[in-house]
Amino acid sequence: MGQEPTERVANLKALAELEGYESVEALLEVAQFDCVIPGICTTAGCTYTVEVEPDQREGFCEACGTSTVQSALVLAERI
Ligand SMILES: [Zn+2]
Repeated sequence: MGQEPTERVANLKALAELEGYESVEALLEVAQFDCVIPGICTTAGCTYTVEVEPDQREGFCEACGTSTVQSALVLAERI
């Protein structure tokens, strides 16, 4: 179940916004040097965010109860 690139971009933008970053680039800049970074649930309609490990691809979402949280770096395909 691969995600469309546009979906990843949309999730990244939502994540940057929810976490208070000016842009996706600003978020990724900070994220690449941290050991815990923002992640967001990739389920359509869910915007649950949580701090995750940089390589997290299937983090648990407390809002929808599935393992669909991906880190910002995973969404950006930087890892
Ligand atoms: Zn969710």
